[in-house]
Amino acid sequence: MMRLIFLGPPGAGKGTQAQIVSEWLSIPHISTGDILRSAVKNQTELGLKATSYMDKGDLVPDSLILDMIRDRLEQPDAVNGWILDGFPRNVAQAQKLDEMLTTMGQGFDRILSLEVPDEILVQRLLGRGKDQGRSDDTEAVIRRRLEVFYESTAPILEFYRDRPELTVVNGDAELDAVSKKLKSAIRPLSSV
Ligand code: AMP
Repeated sequence: MMRLIFLGPPGAGKGTQAQIVSEWLSIPHISTGDILRSAVKNQTELGLKATSYMDKGDLVPDSLILDMIRDRLEQPDAVNGWILDGFPRNVAQAQKLDEMLTTMGQGFDRILSLEVPDEILVQRLLGRGKDQGRSDDTEAVIRRRLEVFYESTAPILEFYRDRPELTVVNGDAELDAVSKKLKSAIRPLSSV
């Protein structure tokens, strides 16, 4: 049983690392970005509402995100733990998450914050745009997503500052080296 929150700017490798850790611990990787992209692709009501924000690199309104995350955390596969990737994205979402978990009689075990310098992030994201074709990986939208990260998401670190669960990990290293560091931050809590 492990409940983990991955934080970090776009391009920090959160998604990749969250996937690796999710397989290691056999817990679901819950990426709000992935859920939203699939909603857009399937043209659901949520997708239709979210798409214009995502195209600009802006945050999708909290009301949509909170319903979506509540539904996801209530799914049967989430009873044994989860990794949140891309949520919370601002202080209001972090506060709501605390409330939601309290209501569910849950908490979380670790907040893992990946730090990577801006120049590296932009390089990585531009590279990803060409290879994987994510429509929000163009230079203008990347810059906006970084701006939104510093304006809205980075203040979450301040919000969580005094929590003993917060662990900052340098994400500016080889993929395997980062995975190792993350696992050693988590291992003392787990039986793996
Ligand atoms: P990501 O894959 O996490 O980079 O998310 C891609 C896009 O989805 C973001 O640029 C936002 O437009 C939207 N998004 C993902 N997660 C959230 C969230 N927790 N709150 C608001 N918008 C989000």
